[in-house]
Amino acid sequence: TSFGFKEVREEEKSQMVGKVFSNVATNYDLMNDLMSAGLHRLWKDRLVSKLNPFPGMKHLDVAGGTGDVAFRILETIRSVKRRGMQDVLEDELQEETQIYACDINPNMLNVGKKRALENGLGEDRSLVWVEGDAEALGFGNDSMDAYTIAFGIRNVTHIEKVLSEAYRVLKRGGRFLCLELSHVNIPVFKELYDYYSFSIIPAMGELVSSDRESYQYLVESIRRFPPQETFASMIADAGFQNVEYENLVGGVVAIHSGLKI
Ligand code: SAM
Repeated sequence: TSFGFKEVREEEKSQMVGKVFSNVATNYDLMNDLMSAGLHRLWKDRLVSKLNPFPGMKHLDVAGGTGDVAFRILETIRSVKRRGMQDVLEDELQEETQIYACDINPNMLNVGKKRALENGLGEDRSLVWVEGDAEALGFGNDSMDAYTIAFGIRNVTHIEKVLSEAYRVLKRGGRFLCLELSHVNIPVFKELYDYYSFSIIPAMGELVSSDRESYQYLVESIRRFPPQETFASMIADAGFQNVEYENLVGGVVAIHSGLKI
């Protein structure tokens, strides 16, 4: 490409992703805040508010090693107080809540577990950490009320497999939500964003983690990811209905959603 990046062959991709996330795990929070100017927090808030979590739900957050999404879901559920419901019933329902944070990389899961301890959620039995591959989930058919994947699907080898696995594990009526870096199509803003991605982000990576290559790879993976409409069609092809998406910051990120009916 004009930016001089090497094409990453498919068989190298999963290896590369493993390496990238092992390298970045420790600096992960800092880099996310720096690269997005803190916005990733608001984007995750938006994802969870679209999800509408409820007490007693079974939720699967894939690529969720850092716990960022799982913690937000749990906090939202804990803050829900059902009107007119007795405290005992309310507590029982809260007890039944299961939020699975599934990630392929144990280093990332460790980041999340550590943060759970720091946030006083270390003993919370609603939070379950699972090492697993989005392309071959270890959960039963029709077992989840909802599924989220935040900044995760871009890095997988076969997006279609991830989508069909999401469809398989969801119950009828279950909701699929995906937050991902996407494509900007607004003139001038697009040029500025490209400059930011291809020049500033790798430089930041170098400065903060002495790891320019990993961040170059991340930026390149954003460019390769299918545009909003194409990705929406892929979600529909996996069987989902009512597929839609919302662009945030002009398409820097998009939240796609679909229903298993
Ligand atoms: N969801 C978190 C967030 O938004 O902060 C973490 C996002 S991080 C950019 C991407 C995560 O995807 C990494 O933790 C990585 O280990 C995980 N990942 C990559 N490929 C995966 C796969 N095939 N199955 C499950 N997780 C995967």
